[in-house]
Amino acid sequence: MPDSSPQLPAELAALLKEDRRFPPPPWFSTTAHVADAGVYERAAADPEGFWDEWARELEWYRPWERVLDWTPPHAKWFVGGQINVTVNCIDRHVRGARRNKAAIIWEGEPGDHRTLTYFDLYREVTSFANVLKSLGVARGDRVAIYLPLIPELAVAMLASARIGAVHSVVFGGFSAESLRDRINDAQAAVLITADGGYRRGQIVPLKRTADEAIREAPSIRHVIVVQRQAGAPIPVHIQEGRDHWYHRLMEDAPSGCEPERMDAEDMLYILYTSGTTGKPKGIVHTTAGYLVGIYATTKWVFDLRDEDVYWCTADIGWVTGHSYVVYGPLANGATVVMYEGAPDWPEKDRFWRIVERYGVTIFYTAPTAIRAFMRWGTDWPKRCKLDSLRLLGTVGEPINPEAWIWYYANIGGSRIPIVDTWWQTETGMIMITPLPGVTTLKPGSATRPFPGVSAAVLTTAGDRVEVGGGLLAITRPWPAMLRGIYGDPERYVRQYWTRWNDSTYFTGDGAKVDEDGYFWLLGRVDDVLNVAGHRIGTMEVESALVDHPRVAEAAVVGRSHELKGQAIAAFVTVKEGTQANPALADELKEHVVHKIGAIARPDEILFAADLPKTRSGKIMRRLLRDIAEGKTLGDTTTLADPAVVAKLKEKYEEEAG
Ligand code: ATP
Ligand code: MG
Repeated sequence: MPDSSPQLPAELAALLKEDRRFPPPPWFSTTAHVADAGVYERAAADPEGFWDEWARELEWYRPWERVLDWTPPHAKWFVGGQINVTVNCIDRHVRGARRNKAAIIWEGEPGDHRTLTYFDLYREVTSFANVLKSLGVARGDRVAIYLPLIPELAVAMLASARIGAVHSVVFGGFSAESLRDRINDAQAAVLITADGGYRRGQIVPLKRTADEAIREAPSIRHVIVVQRQAGAPIPVHIQEGRDHWYHRLMEDAPSGCEPERMDAEDMLYILYTSGTTGKPKGIVHTTAGYLVGIYATTKWVFDLRDEDVYWCTADIGWVTGHSYVVYGPLANGATVVMYEGAPDWPEKDRFWRIVERYGVTIFYTAPTAIRAFMRWGTDWPKRCKLDSLRLLGTVGEPINPEAWIWYYANIGGSRIPIVDTWWQTETGMIMITPLPGVTTLKPGSATRPFPGVSAAVLTTAGDRVEVGGGLLAITRPWPAMLRGIYGDPERYVRQYWTRWNDSTYFTGDGAKVDEDGYFWLLGRVDDVLNVAGHRIGTMEVESALVDHPRVAEAAVVGRSHELKGQAIAAFVTVKEGTQANPALADELKEHVVHKIGAIARPDEILFAADLPKTRSGKIMRRLLRDIAEGKTLGDTTTLADPAVVAKLKEKYEEEAG
């Protein structure tokens, strides 16, 4: 744990001379859901009252008796209330004007399309809920889902929620072992998978991987297999009695299924974190508080309205997909775009073609994707008509100002707001974010806590940092907060509620606050460097590097150094058409000195073809740290491509001599 001296060296402020400011455009504010910054104060004066009001916009079987029961570190929200999530995401829209509105517009990677209206979704979900019941799935049972990004993924989640089962979605890019471990951890009774999916033109053989996984997953009684393309099955092994085709089961299933009346605190799902810092944790989310939190944040952060076409590019296998592809937008009755495949298939303009084809108005993606777009160049987005867009968003990692500005100019046409949203699997909902109708944006800052959310930057001792850097904490319970780590109540307490005291949540992230009270995320605490007594966020050095016109992406880590405490090692990928050579390395070091100061000069720069990333696209600095320290590599199971890190290690050792 590096110490967290509240003040940053003055030179670092240089980076924050990133002083461009972007007030909300008047055309946006005039129609925005939130156009009056007074909401912050009103919510802060009575946070429970604030969430109570939101809860009233949902449909309940029985109203709650109390908004919050808080016995630190255990919270219960909307105590005594009864509700079903799917009634709010589907039934109430079907009863009204949205019955035949598109709920899901889906595009497969090979170019196939499907649109499901809310009424279609109702039939599909209730039929599948009946299928699950017919296989003996009951309230409280765990259902594992291992699917490509196809509509059946959302259907399977919603069908589980309909009957009170608990889903555990495992991203379709995971290996047999990862799937097996997650199934066993949750003791899932049923697995829903597909014959395969598409990625970069290749078939991802999900059923084959699943077969391998369940050989050592004895809790699985039934496997349901979706045929990815009707009439064009991918060859799979079907084990009689255990395996069933989804479409066969659906043929006989009646539609219409009475929803379970769920207690506000009944479990809705388990989801494993991405494992950027170590072994993934099975995060537990419950019903009512989660729904209220994501309903509210979807509506306000994205300023969502009925005529929007909303596209969040995250896979549903991650929390972003749970909260902001499925539950949040559907609870709001939105039209949601889903795309199965890679952004560069068959060409690097695939995303922009999708925006143009469906007239997407709200686009939400990850910094890792934005940096890939930057690397590919501006010609790709220029080919497409993007003027339907009215709001952009990012999530997943800190966004460096350079990437922010690129996104703003080249995708947003320098006219629309960007919401940089900070949150975690654990928080369930967006926590620090602009409200696009009122917030003046600063590139690289996630700005302020959402109304009703209390965040603070604290020192290790627990003192509040008014201006400066430290550890990011959440200082009050929030409705979509995790209720535990599945099967490990002790780790829940230790991991999140012991840093200061049992009512202050430790996020694991470093952050700083500026004079305006804006939050700047610095990345994970273990990623904050301590160079000659100065705390430097890896993010800050990375920003300076990426600011150089020839750099596409950079990952910075600390390596132990006798004199300085830590030396800075930078792993850099360059833009297409750039020669990486020692002269460029020197130039980059100087560039960092120029942007931040001599204190931040990288001691070494290694050019890499690719950086190691988790399957959710986050840079795995802990593995780079292992490389720089000459250690054996830590857990690599959540790595997207293990070859990348092996190659880097080899190259590093060669160059280090
Ligand atoms: P693990 O907890 O297993 O190491 P993880 O933290 O990567 O994995 P997630 O819950 O998917 O798993 O990611 C949440 C983290 O992502 C945050 O704690 C933060 O470090 C980072 N993050 C998310 N959004 C932002 C953002 N807008 N700005 C900065 N960092 C962000
Ligand atoms: Mg985390």
